[in-house]
Amino acid sequence: MLKKILTCFTLLVALAFASTASAKTAELTGINAYDLDARTVRIEISYRGGPLKEEDISSRPLLKGMTLNLENCSPGKPGRVLNKQIQSGARDLIKEIDINETGKKQTSVLIKFKTFIGSDGATINLEPADRKEKKDARIVIDVRKVDVDEAWPNSGKLERPDDPYSIDDYNGDGKIVVLDPGHGGSDSGAIGPTGVREKDVALSVSLKAQKLLAAAGYHVVMTRTTDIDVAAPGVPDGVELQTRVDKSPPNTDIFISVHCNAFSNSGANGVETYYAPANSQGAHLARLLNEELLRLGGLHNRGVKSARFYVIRHSKCPASLIELGFITNHREEKLLADEDYQQKLAQAILNAVNRYFNQGGND
Ligand SMILES: [Zn+2]
Repeated sequence: MLKKILTCFTLLVALAFASTASAKTAELTGINAYDLDARTVRIEISYRGGPLKEEDISSRPLLKGMTLNLENCSPGKPGRVLNKQIQSGARDLIKEIDINETGKKQTSVLIKFKTFIGSDGATINLEPADRKEKKDARIVIDVRKVDVDEAWPNSGKLERPDDPYSIDDYNGDGKIVVLDPGHGGSDSGAIGPTGVREKDVALSVSLKAQKLLAAAGYHVVMTRTTDIDVAAPGVPDGVELQTRVDKSPPNTDIFISVHCNAFSNSGANGVETYYAPANSQGAHLARLLNEELLRLGGLHNRGVKSARFYVIRHSKCPASLIELGFITNHREEKLLADEDYQQKLAQAILNAVNRYFNQGGND
């Protein structure tokens, strides 16, 4: 459902700068946002020094906002409050602009919008200083104001009154989520009666969840994005699984391993989620995942269980391993292979993650 709104912001450089410029650090001097016309808000971020080049700027769309990461740029003198002018028309769109020093000569600009922006998103241009107009060099961002329903016709569907979260809570705030699609490469995982492979289902659902989570502002790390052995084909299981655990950055917030269940009797069916013994945060995550997966309806609840699976036992953060259904069950094999159902599973993962962070991760 959310997948359409993830837009790539186009980075356009209006004017090329002479390449002889020194590598002087740019320093932000001010921000001005105003209505360019009825449908466009222009945000001008002024700076001195530099000049900044196209490769110094990267942007990431958030569900209701965007972040700009600026290299070779400092936010300005310590303690100096950057002059931010959000003029009246632009206030319809812009909720807040935050500037942060994220490293040596690295600055991030977080622009929060009050509404979603359309699939065309925003364009970013670089403008040189204009001495006549007494304007510093600028990063110019044009954002189109788009009606929510026009930009994302299905947005209303997420606002179910019985939901414990609202659409405003879809903000991952950069929390780090590791998604581990089970198996891959030489290891197919379980195989269903018509040949559906666990490794393919796990990857497909995880990639869909990755898109949804990223659109909601989470920083998503995938242990694999293609059909590969993460370590190498034929290595011992412990090596393969530890390699997956090691993909987690040190400050990872949660780890979710995605699998399908299997049993010799094709009658076995249902959803189950796991956490490592004595990991209460992991148990909480597993419980939320279980609830959200069951909301899809029609599948039997096999419960939330503790187990000593390698990846959840060795992850240093709250972790859960989820079994989406039984690939050895005829009906569930068919569901698991279905793109629409996979999208719903991905949405369920997003919902659980949102609930986990919105409720502070405590029982
Ligand atoms: Zn598995």
